[in-house]
Amino acid sequence: MKIKFLKLNLIISLISTNVFATIVENNIEESRYIQNNVSSRVMSSTQAFSKLIEELDKQSVPTRYLKQSLPYIKSIKFVTLQPNVYGIYNTLTKVMTLGEDFISASTGQVKTLSNLTFDQVASVYHEFWHAYRDNIASKSRSPLILTFASQARSLYRSKGSNIHDEAYGLYAEEIVKNYVHFYSLFEKRNMDSRKKLRDNIKLSNIYKSGFNSEIFGYYRTWRGQFKNSTVNLPSRDRLNIEKNLLDSKVSRNYLEAFAENKF
Ligand SMILES: [Zn+2]
Repeated sequence: MKIKFLKLNLIISLISTNVFATIVENNIEESRYIQNNVSSRVMSSTQAFSKLIEELDKQSVPTRYLKQSLPYIKSIKFVTLQPNVYGIYNTLTKVMTLGEDFISASTGQVKTLSNLTFDQVASVYHEFWHAYRDNIASKSRSPLILTFASQARSLYRSKGSNIHDEAYGLYAEEIVKNYVHFYSLFEKRNMDSRKKLRDNIKLSNIYKSGFNSEIFGYYRTWRGQFKNSTVNLPSRDRLNIEKNLLDSKVSRNYLEAFAENKF
Protein backbone atom coordinates (compact mmCIF):
# COMPACT_ATOMS: atom_id res chain seq x y z
CA MET A 1 0.00 0.00 0.00
CA LYS A 2 1.27 3.41 -0.82
CA ILE A 3 0.41 6.24 1.52
CA LYS A 4 1.54 9.81 1.90
CA PHE A 5 3.14 10.33 5.29
CA LEU A 6 2.81 14.10 5.34
CA LYS A 7 -0.91 13.80 5.93
CA LEU A 8 -0.61 10.94 8.36
CA ASN A 9 -2.75 12.55 11.07
CA LEU A 10 -5.84 12.19 9.00
CA ILE A 11 -5.35 8.52 8.39
CA ILE A 12 -4.51 7.82 12.02
CA SER A 13 -7.69 9.48 13.24
CA LEU A 14 -9.60 7.60 10.60
CA ILE A 15 -8.24 4.24 11.60
CA SER A 16 -7.96 4.52 15.35
CA THR A 17 -11.72 4.84 15.70
CA ASN A 18 -11.82 1.14 14.98
CA VAL A 19 -9.51 -0.21 17.63
CA PHE A 20 -10.92 -3.72 17.71
CA ALA A 21 -10.83 -4.36 14.02
CA THR A 22 -9.36 -7.67 13.04
CA ILE A 23 -6.08 -7.00 11.38
CA VAL A 24 -5.00 -9.58 8.89
CA GLU A 25 -1.25 -9.50 8.68
CA ASN A 26 0.04 -8.05 5.47
CA ASN A 27 -3.43 -7.47 4.21
CA ILE A 28 -5.28 -4.21 3.89
CA GLU A 29 -8.95 -3.73 4.52
CA GLU A 30 -9.24 -1.34 1.66
CA SER A 31 -12.75 -0.12 2.39
CA ARG A 32 -11.27 2.13 5.05
CA TYR A 33 -9.22 3.99 2.52
CA ILE A 34 -11.86 4.40 -0.10
CA GLN A 35 -13.75 7.66 -0.09
CA ASN A 36 -16.31 6.87 -2.71
CA ASN A 37 -16.98 3.45 -4.13
CA VAL A 38 -20.05 4.48 -6.09
CA SER A 39 -18.34 5.45 -9.32
CA SER A 40 -15.82 2.62 -9.12
CA ARG A 41 -14.68 0.87 -12.29
CA VAL A 42 -13.36 -2.64 -12.30
CA MET A 43 -11.15 -4.05 -15.06
CA SER A 44 -8.99 -7.07 -15.59
CA SER A 45 -5.33 -6.30 -15.02
CA THR A 46 -4.59 -6.95 -18.70
CA GLN A 47 -7.33 -4.62 -19.87
CA ALA A 48 -6.14 -1.94 -17.49
CA PHE A 49 -2.40 -2.06 -18.10
CA SER A 50 -1.44 -3.74 -21.41
CA LYS A 51 -1.30 -0.47 -23.35
CA LEU A 52 0.58 1.35 -20.61
CA ILE A 53 3.14 -1.46 -20.41
CA GLU A 54 3.68 -1.21 -24.18
CA GLU A 55 4.32 2.50 -23.85
CA LEU A 56 6.74 1.93 -20.97
CA ASP A 57 8.59 -0.67 -23.05
CA LYS A 58 9.11 1.92 -25.79
CA GLN A 59 10.84 4.15 -23.25
CA SER A 60 13.06 1.29 -22.06
CA VAL A 61 11.45 1.40 -18.62
CA PRO A 62 11.68 -2.03 -16.93
CA THR A 63 8.35 -3.85 -17.20
CA ARG A 64 9.22 -7.54 -16.71
CA TYR A 65 7.82 -7.77 -13.20
CA LEU A 66 4.67 -5.91 -14.21
CA LYS A 67 4.05 -8.35 -17.07
CA GLN A 68 4.73 -11.40 -14.91
CA SER A 69 2.37 -10.14 -12.20
CA LEU A 70 -0.58 -9.39 -14.51
CA PRO A 71 -2.08 -12.91 -14.54
CA TYR A 72 -2.06 -13.10 -10.74
CA ILE A 73 -3.94 -9.87 -10.11
CA LYS A 74 -7.60 -10.74 -10.09
CA SER A 75 -8.82 -7.29 -11.00
CA ILE A 76 -8.00 -3.62 -10.77
CA LYS A 77 -10.51 -1.37 -9.09
CA PHE A 78 -10.48 2.38 -9.72
CA VAL A 79 -12.19 4.39 -6.98
CA THR A 80 -11.98 7.71 -5.18
CA LEU A 81 -9.30 7.02 -2.60
CA GLN A 82 -8.67 9.00 0.55
CA PRO A 83 -6.43 11.96 -0.38
CA ASN A 84 -3.44 10.44 1.43
CA VAL A 85 -3.68 7.02 -0.19
CA TYR A 86 -2.24 6.27 -3.64
CA GLY A 87 -2.95 2.60 -4.05
CA ILE A 88 -3.67 -0.69 -2.34
CA TYR A 89 -2.88 -4.29 -3.15
CA ASN A 90 -4.84 -6.87 -1.20
CA THR A 91 -2.91 -10.11 -0.73
CA LEU A 92 -6.05 -12.07 0.17
CA THR A 93 -8.37 -11.04 -2.64
CA LYS A 94 -5.57 -10.29 -5.16
CA VAL A 95 -7.38 -7.08 -6.05
CA MET A 96 -5.45 -3.89 -6.70
CA THR A 97 -7.13 -0.57 -5.98
CA LEU A 98 -6.04 2.69 -7.57
CA GLY A 99 -7.46 6.20 -7.85
CA GLU A 100 -10.24 6.90 -10.34
CA ASP A 101 -8.07 9.68 -11.79
CA PHE A 102 -6.21 6.91 -13.66
CA ILE A 103 -9.21 6.71 -15.98
CA SER A 104 -9.52 9.00 -18.97
CA ALA A 105 -12.93 10.68 -19.18
CA SER A 106 -12.90 10.51 -22.98
CA THR A 107 -11.90 6.87 -23.48
CA GLY A 108 -13.06 5.28 -20.23
CA GLN A 109 -9.75 3.41 -20.18
CA VAL A 110 -6.53 3.94 -18.22
CA LYS A 111 -4.87 7.16 -19.37
CA THR A 112 -1.89 7.04 -21.70
CA LEU A 113 1.58 7.39 -20.22
CA SER A 114 1.86 11.07 -21.14
CA ASN A 115 -1.47 11.81 -19.43
CA LEU A 116 -0.58 10.11 -16.16
CA THR A 117 1.40 12.00 -13.54
CA PHE A 118 4.83 10.70 -12.57
CA ASP A 119 3.40 9.89 -9.14
CA GLN A 120 0.70 7.75 -10.72
CA VAL A 121 3.26 5.80 -12.75
CA ALA A 122 5.24 5.39 -9.54
CA SER A 123 2.17 4.03 -7.73
CA VAL A 124 1.72 1.35 -10.38
CA TYR A 125 5.30 0.17 -9.82
CA HIS A 126 4.80 0.25 -6.05
CA GLU A 127 1.60 -1.81 -6.01
CA PHE A 128 2.87 -4.22 -8.65
CA TRP A 129 5.91 -4.89 -6.47
CA HIS A 130 3.55 -6.06 -3.71
CA ALA A 131 1.72 -8.27 -6.21
CA TYR A 132 5.00 -9.62 -7.60
CA ARG A 133 6.41 -10.42 -4.17
CA ASP A 134 3.14 -12.00 -3.04
CA ASN A 135 2.59 -14.21 -6.07
CA ILE A 136 5.95 -14.85 -7.66
CA ALA A 137 9.05 -13.78 -5.73
CA SER A 138 8.04 -15.21 -2.35
CA LYS A 139 7.44 -18.60 -3.95
CA SER A 140 10.91 -18.70 -5.46
CA ARG A 141 14.45 -18.86 -4.16
CA SER A 142 15.66 -16.10 -6.45
CA PRO A 143 18.50 -13.76 -5.43
CA LEU A 144 15.90 -10.98 -5.15
CA ILE A 145 13.88 -12.70 -2.44
CA LEU A 146 16.83 -14.31 -0.63
CA THR A 147 18.46 -10.92 -0.13
CA PHE A 148 15.09 -9.38 0.74
CA ALA A 149 14.42 -12.02 3.39
CA SER A 150 17.83 -11.99 5.04
CA GLN A 151 17.87 -8.19 5.19
CA ALA A 152 14.29 -8.08 6.53
CA ARG A 153 15.37 -10.40 9.37
CA SER A 154 18.52 -8.52 10.26
CA LEU A 155 17.57 -4.85 9.84
CA TYR A 156 14.52 -4.51 12.06
CA ARG A 157 13.52 -5.61 15.54
CA SER A 158 10.07 -6.77 14.46
CA LYS A 159 7.68 -6.60 11.49
CA GLY A 160 10.75 -6.91 9.29
CA SER A 161 9.13 -8.33 6.19
CA ASN A 162 6.22 -5.85 6.32
CA ILE A 163 8.55 -2.86 6.68
CA HIS A 164 10.98 -4.10 4.07
CA ASP A 165 8.12 -4.87 1.67
CA GLU A 166 7.13 -1.19 1.73
CA ALA A 167 10.74 -0.02 1.50
CA TYR A 168 11.21 -2.11 -1.66
CA GLY A 169 8.03 -0.70 -3.17
CA LEU A 170 9.15 2.84 -2.36
CA TYR A 171 12.61 2.41 -3.84
CA ALA A 172 11.40 0.71 -7.03
CA GLU A 173 8.88 3.49 -7.62
CA GLU A 174 11.45 6.19 -6.82
CA ILE A 175 13.92 4.87 -9.37
CA VAL A 176 11.30 4.43 -12.07
CA LYS A 177 9.76 7.86 -11.39
CA ASN A 178 13.15 9.53 -11.64
CA TYR A 179 13.89 7.76 -14.91
CA VAL A 180 10.50 8.44 -16.52
CA HIS A 181 10.70 12.08 -15.50
CA PHE A 182 14.11 12.55 -17.11
CA TYR A 183 13.08 10.54 -20.16
CA SER A 184 10.21 12.94 -20.77
CA LEU A 185 12.65 15.88 -20.66
CA PHE A 186 14.87 14.27 -23.28
CA GLU A 187 12.05 12.99 -25.43
CA LYS A 188 10.58 16.42 -26.12
CA ARG A 189 13.85 17.71 -27.60
CA ASN A 190 15.80 17.20 -30.80
CA MET A 191 19.15 15.46 -30.99
CA ASP A 192 21.23 18.61 -30.49
CA SER A 193 19.41 19.78 -27.45
CA ARG A 194 19.44 16.26 -26.01
CA LYS A 195 23.22 16.46 -26.22
CA LYS A 196 23.11 19.67 -24.19
CA LEU A 197 21.03 17.92 -21.55
CA ARG A 198 23.64 15.15 -21.38
CA ASP A 199 26.43 17.70 -20.91
CA ASN A 200 24.57 19.40 -18.07
CA ILE A 201 26.40 18.46 -14.85
CA LYS A 202 23.66 19.84 -12.64
CA LEU A 203 21.03 17.64 -14.27
CA SER A 204 23.35 14.66 -14.13
CA ASN A 205 23.76 15.18 -10.39
CA ILE A 206 20.02 15.49 -9.85
CA TYR A 207 19.47 12.22 -11.72
CA LYS A 208 22.16 10.41 -9.72
CA SER A 209 20.86 11.75 -6.40
CA GLY A 210 17.61 9.83 -7.00
CA PHE A 211 19.49 6.62 -6.18
CA ASN A 212 20.53 8.03 -2.81
CA SER A 213 17.23 9.45 -1.63
CA GLU A 214 16.15 8.42 1.85
CA ILE A 215 13.81 5.43 1.87
CA PHE A 216 12.06 4.36 5.05
CA GLY A 217 9.74 1.38 5.07
CA TYR A 218 6.67 1.34 7.27
CA TYR A 219 4.16 -1.02 8.81
CA ARG A 220 0.72 -1.02 10.32
CA THR A 221 0.35 -1.52 14.04
CA TRP A 222 -2.36 -3.83 15.39
CA ARG A 223 -4.46 -0.68 15.79
CA GLY A 224 -4.08 0.06 12.13
CA GLN A 225 -1.72 2.99 12.58
CA PHE A 226 1.13 3.47 10.14
CA LYS A 227 4.61 3.62 11.67
CA ASN A 228 7.70 4.63 9.78
CA SER A 229 10.92 2.70 10.26
CA THR A 230 14.08 4.66 11.10
CA VAL A 231 16.24 2.39 8.95
CA ASN A 232 17.22 4.02 5.67
CA LEU A 233 17.16 1.33 2.97
CA PRO A 234 20.73 -0.02 2.72
CA SER A 235 22.77 0.00 -0.45
CA ARG A 236 22.68 -3.82 -0.62
CA ASP A 237 18.89 -3.71 -1.04
CA ARG A 238 18.99 -0.84 -3.50
CA LEU A 239 21.37 -2.79 -5.72
CA ASN A 240 19.23 -5.91 -5.29
CA ILE A 241 16.17 -4.02 -6.53
CA GLU A 242 18.01 -2.38 -9.43
CA LYS A 243 19.52 -5.66 -10.59
CA ASN A 244 16.95 -8.32 -9.72
CA LEU A 245 13.65 -6.46 -9.92
CA LEU A 246 14.38 -3.76 -12.49
CA ASP A 247 16.76 -6.03 -14.44
CA SER A 248 19.54 -3.40 -14.53
CA LYS A 249 17.45 -1.43 -17.04
CA VAL A 250 17.70 1.84 -15.14
CA SER A 251 21.36 2.76 -15.22
CA ARG A 252 22.91 4.91 -12.51
CA ASN A 253 25.14 6.26 -15.25
CA TYR A 254 23.35 9.37 -16.59
CA LEU A 255 24.89 9.22 -20.08
CA GLU A 256 24.09 5.55 -20.44
CA ALA A 257 20.55 5.93 -19.07
CA PHE A 258 19.69 8.56 -21.69
CA ALA A 259 21.92 7.53 -24.58
CA GLU A 260 20.79 8.70 -28.00
CA ASN A 261 19.75 5.19 -29.09
CA LYS A 262 16.98 5.29 -26.46
CA PHE A 263 15.11 7.96 -28.48
ZN1 LIG B 1 2.93 -0.41 -0.26
